[in-house]
Amino acid sequence: MKRFVNKTVLVTGAASGIGRDTCLRLASEGAQVIAVDLNEPQLATLCQQIKQQGGEAHSFPCDLSLTKTVREVFENIKKQFYIDVLINNAGIAHVGTIEQTSEEDLDRLYQVNIKGIYNTISSVIPSMVQRSKGVILNLASVASCVAVADRFAYSMTKGAVLTMTYSIAKDYINQGIRCNCISPGRVHTPFVDNFLEKNYPDNQQQMFETLSKSQPIGRMAKVEEVSSLIAYLCSDEAAFITGSNFPIDGGFTTL
Ligand code: NAD
Repeated sequence: MKRFVNKTVLVTGAASGIGRDTCLRLASEGAQVIAVDLNEPQLATLCQQIKQQGGEAHSFPCDLSLTKTVREVFENIKKQFYIDVLINNAGIAHVGTIEQTSEEDLDRLYQVNIKGIYNTISSVIPSMVQRSKGVILNLASVASCVAVADRFAYSMTKGAVLTMTYSIAKDYINQGIRCNCISPGRVHTPFVDNFLEKNYPDNQQQMFETLSKSQPIGRMAKVEEVSSLIAYLCSDEAAFITGSNFPIDGGFTTL
């Protein structure tokens, strides 16, 4: 399947996990990939891998939480490319109740998970409007939809990703722009491994099993299961879908 031939796709948080796999997947389907992330060395490795596999990829290191930096980097991107698809995947987590969340924690989560998406969409949407076409896909979470314990700041910011998605979809529905989000449950990525390493250094493997079994389906999602949904929603096959949220959670929110 080559659904992204002649399409330019910008993926944030491209250096790791879901973002990385999404870049590889879309490049294999013909997309020209613009990979954005904080992590410059990992971005370079990803772009090299895509090129070795016959694809096309360009790396743009950027801290998405810094509005001025994003404006500068995206001006540079826009001089060279028209963005057909914007995938807002970069995100950070925090574990804790409101009492365990400092003002600094809250500000950091806000800056990356909410303002980061504001920065990218507001940079890209004028050219999508000008061309009367564009697709935006945001990464929300099960924590956007149902209560998840000890995720005060994460749930708060991921809830905003959901409503931001609806707002963009509504405002641009008559201008050829689709905007959707997906809400994953646990996906096995470095995000999860780093969490376990930090919080359970002595029994990481045991906690991995416990976390896996706590999902209704009995395991975590694989990154390729998530990137496959992202690819579908960003392709023309999903031309009738906008303003929607897609849980991909092994039954977490309903069973
Ligand atoms: P990950 O930690 O493996 O990758 C996230 C990437 O985002 C990293 O490469 C990191 O460098 C980048 N990033 C972080 N802050 C940034 C910033 N300020 N500027 C630029 N890049 C930045 O994470 P993942 O598990 O692949 O998660 C991707 C998305 O999916 C996140 O938004 C996360 O909240 C969401 N999600 C993940 C899970 C899960 O279980 N893994 C579940 C639900 C939702």
